[in-house]
Amino acid sequence: MRAAMFVGAGLPLVIETCPDPTPGAHQVVLKVGRCGICGTDLHWTSGPRPRQQKGRLGHEFAGEVVARGRGVERLKIGDRVAAMPMMGCGECEHCSAGCFLFCAKRIPLLGGFAEYTLADERSAYTLPADLSMEDGALVEPLAAALNCVRICGISKGARVLVIGAGAMGLGATFWARHLGAGPIAVSARSNSRADLCLRMGATAFIPTGDDYRARVRAALGGAPDVVFECAGQPGTIAQAIDAVRACGVVGVLGMCDDVDNFHPIKGVVKQVRVQFSAAYTPKDFELCVDTMARGSVEPRAMVVQTIGLAELPATFEALRHDSSRCRVHVDPFL
Ligand SMILES: [Zn+2]
Ligand SMILES: [Zn+2]
Repeated sequence: MRAAMFVGAGLPLVIETCPDPTPGAHQVVLKVGRCGICGTDLHWTSGPRPRQQKGRLGHEFAGEVVARGRGVERLKIGDRVAAMPMMGCGECEHCSAGCFLFCAKRIPLLGGFAEYTLADERSAYTLPADLSMEDGALVEPLAAALNCVRICGISKGARVLVIGAGAMGLGATFWARHLGAGPIAVSARSNSRADLCLRMGATAFIPTGDDYRARVRAALGGAPDVVFECAGQPGTIAQAIDAVRACGVVGVLGMCDDVDNFHPIKGVVKQVRVQFSAAYTPKDFELCVDTMARGSVEPRAMVVQTIGLAELPATFEALRHDSSRCRVHVDPFL
């Protein structure tokens, strides 16, 4: 099969021919339908010491089951699934809570940028007939946003501020709307995604800049109850703590990889809860699939382009310097 390989810092991905994957216990082989290119893929493969190890990548994928390993009970050949890019031991306290990311024996299942990849049936979720592979590849980023919104808690009518209009910001907006928020303002440095934010459920778009706090309050009718930091830039946690109401919540989804500064006392005097969020649980994946299957398919607007594997290396490099395209999907058989 053909697969994209990360071969090292500063080098474009390489499309290689390699053996088809062999499924282990509980694993299935998926014929990849779609895999999204995520900001994390770009960030973790950049810089002199990239976080990404050499090899396969692609963690936002959906595909069709074409082979089954031993112990597979639920999934059948031909089933279409959205799969988590990991599975844990299934037995420890983290796995019991559905938090496979924190399992000491976690097995990464990256590899969506290929014709075939592995999934574990215990962390793969069946797509109903009316959801496409493209929908399926949106489940992973939507689940990551849902996890944060869920653990922060949104009360009915809550005033919500989302900082950042990338996939996480759009996802947080979608879920805040879905889980009963009142006014939702999204802010970003560029207003190129203002329309997309409104389509996902925002009631206002606020460019960053002067009088930011006052403009947020005016848009929401008061200080936000919950602020989601989805920009991942130094300074945005401070901006969020500054904007949130007393006893409010700041949810952090942004993957800032730099040292950041904020004044703890600004959070202390308001008793702000700062909640970091990582990955998702099976419940999040299931709710994403269910919600889209019930017709809430606004996130489809995030996908702006679909490319084949051959175009991936050049597109991947171009996306490092171009944040105008929200989600580009790879169809390995295009
Ligand atoms: Zn991602
Ligand atoms: Zn475990």
